[in-house]
Amino acid sequence: MKKFFMLLLAGLMAVSVAACSTKPTEEKIYTAGTYTATAAGFGGDVTVTLTVSDTAITAVEIVGAQETEAIGGAALETLATAIKDANSVEVDVVSGATVTSNAVLAAAKKACDQAMGVAPSKTALTDGTYTATAVGYSWTGMMTGEVKIENGAIASITITEEHDSDTGEIAKTALDLLPGRIVANQSLATDAISGATVTSNGIKDIVAQAIEMAGGKSTEWMDEVAKETDTVKLEGYDVVVVGLGGSGMLSYMAAAEQGATVFGIETAAKVGGNSTTTTGPMLLGPINDSYAEVNFADKDEVYQVWIDYVGSEEKADIIKEAVYNNDTHIKYYQDNFGFEFTGMIMSFVRPQWSAFWTRYVPENGQSNIFGPNKTNQYVRAMDKAVAMNEKNDYALELTAEELIFNGDTAVGVKAVAYDGTTYEVYGDAIILATGGYVGNAEMCEENWGRTLNTVAQTTSDGTGINMGISAGGATYMLGVDPMIHILQVPNMIKNNDLTADQKAILSALALVKGEMSTNVYGEALDLTLAEAQIPNYMYYNIYTEAELNDMKTNGLPENVSRATSMFMKQGGTMTAGAPVTDMDTILEVGMEYGNVLKADSIKDLAAQIGCDEATLAATLGEDTTYYAVICAGYTYGSVGGLDVDVNMNVLRADGTPIANLFAAGADCQGVENVEGKIYTPWGGQAQSWTFTSGYLAGHAAAAYGLSK
Ligand SMILES: Cc1cc2nc3c(=O)[nH]c(=O)nc-3n(C[C@H](O)[C@H](O)[C@H](O)COP(=O)(O)OP(=O)(O)OC[C@H]3O[C@@H](n4cnc5c(N)ncnc54)[C@H](O)[C@@H]3O)c2cc1C
Repeated sequence: MKKFFMLLLAGLMAVSVAACSTKPTEEKIYTAGTYTATAAGFGGDVTVTLTVSDTAITAVEIVGAQETEAIGGAALETLATAIKDANSVEVDVVSGATVTSNAVLAAAKKACDQAMGVAPSKTALTDGTYTATAVGYSWTGMMTGEVKIENGAIASITITEEHDSDTGEIAKTALDLLPGRIVANQSLATDAISGATVTSNGIKDIVAQAIEMAGGKSTEWMDEVAKETDTVKLEGYDVVVVGLGGSGMLSYMAAAEQGATVFGIETAAKVGGNSTTTTGPMLLGPINDSYAEVNFADKDEVYQVWIDYVGSEEKADIIKEAVYNNDTHIKYYQDNFGFEFTGMIMSFVRPQWSAFWTRYVPENGQSNIFGPNKTNQYVRAMDKAVAMNEKNDYALELTAEELIFNGDTAVGVKAVAYDGTTYEVYGDAIILATGGYVGNAEMCEENWGRTLNTVAQTTSDGTGINMGISAGGATYMLGVDPMIHILQVPNMIKNNDLTADQKAILSALALVKGEMSTNVYGEALDLTLAEAQIPNYMYYNIYTEAELNDMKTNGLPENVSRATSMFMKQGGTMTAGAPVTDMDTILEVGMEYGNVLKADSIKDLAAQIGCDEATLAATLGEDTTYYAVICAGYTYGSVGGLDVDVNMNVLRADGTPIANLFAAGADCQGVENVEGKIYTPWGGQAQSWTFTSGYLAGHAAAAYGLSK
């Protein structure tokens, strides 16, 4: 959601105050006019526009389209007010929103310097080594780093403690790459590492704090980083793959194995996408001897259940591939590219399908749900595929932006590297595999009515789908509900404002579906609904003040203490019956972070929830003081995408294929799902689709490319 705040100073001020300092003055200090400057915020740029008279700031406008709604978005409003009230750009950062605040203040300072006609300057730093702590991506601990200042410059950045890489290898790309780049650029405006924005922002926050400790002003360390402007052309490929997550890599491998020359484009600093964070794919048949004794789900039954689920035979040929050839596709990658799987777990919807879902083998004995150790087998497989032809190659930190057309035909992909270099990559066939649209706020709002918390890589911002549309492709079931299996408070508290045990209690209060749980309309929550079916993918657990007071003495009731979610406890524990003496602190901090609402009456609570008062009154009954603890769904990603046929050829609205354009993975997963029902009735389906769609797209694109 777009964040936009504007404050006008009413009337003329008798005595104005200088904007860049708080010193009162009546002197002409500005050239009257409007001045705009931009700095890198938490999720994207923030822009500050100052309107000044000769002697005073008369308007402050702050825009930050990508800042998180509850934290960064709120900081924009607070800072606009603070700058107005102080009539100065030297105001305090907003607690909990340091990155957004620093960006706002840096942009405000730049705008102010322009208004004053002065060149930007830096306050001198005192040499030394400074230690600071900041929040990163992890929900189990903060990161700490040492920043060495030498000769007034940033000499080195060493992260001494971090928990981000426990949650996925993508964080490691920021830990490996960003410190060196900040040192080289001497600027906090150094781009975040694509795919690891949150970890990058944690590192920048540590450096910003160190600069302040050294006597400097971090907002002065936001010099624009120069970018390359040249264009490199890469020509003559049979197949170009956009996005090297699971389905992109798997299609790359198949195309290379078929003899095609292939180039791959990946925006993140590593391959793998969300696919390498998963447990694994569904499996409907043996892929090696160790599965000989497994009693797999019956393929005919799975097929029929699937057709019943989508309620149509329109895509029956694709669903047949997904069911009857599922094991063939996975075995192909096992036999040709060394993929390894082990053990079976059941589908989470049909207990009778007790052997349904396989898991990647652990790497070096280590395996976890979100974690590292699955990418390695993808990397080894990619190495093998690249080696199949000396022209084969791929690039990381290269972001595909649009298709290049010759007339109506897409002939290549325009992409921009992290250093600004533009690449034009030309190929006969193009495979779109960018992982859907969860990172695109507008598409989320259009299709689901809101943006969502996610545990997925938000590099998947609809680029592949929009490229397909630009070539005349149609979409299919674009609005399928997002994949949601995880619930949590909407704004996870990652710093030490609460202890791990306190966070666990807050989460438990949020997660349990209790007697007074309501949906966003104030209606009693339908407890039988799956997460992805709850309106707006969120609900409110409502407690009377008396109930919460009782927990101070008698602890959490059994049902609350049994609440679970994959990342609920954040390192802490909570036990039924143990007095929660610090309940007030938990609720207060919860309110501060937008996770808890407090209301003195039903009318007040209805206003805060934004629902009908009478409906809420019917759900709650007694008119008293309430606390509503908010629970939000966290998504794995989007499902609906481009329309494709069984070759993964992108289809036009009239059903004809666009001969050289293909899609794979979440960019076209709507073809085996349906809008209006939960996205997938069984576990492992999405990851299985990466294998099936990757196999089909890679083979078909290679056949097309090699025929040219
Ligand atoms: C935590 C988690 C657990 C999951 N567990 C399971 C599970 O156990 N089983 C299951 O079936 N499913 C699971 N899923 C869902 C499954 O991972 C996805 O459906 C699947 O990974 C989608 O594959 P994909 O190839 O479409 O996308 P991805 O693997 O995400 O790959 C897309 C790639 O495209 C890149 N990209 C995006 N835009 C651009 C661009 N403009 N230019 C270049 N590159 C770009 C991205 O950086 C990314 O690397 C899980 C998802 C998550 C997040």
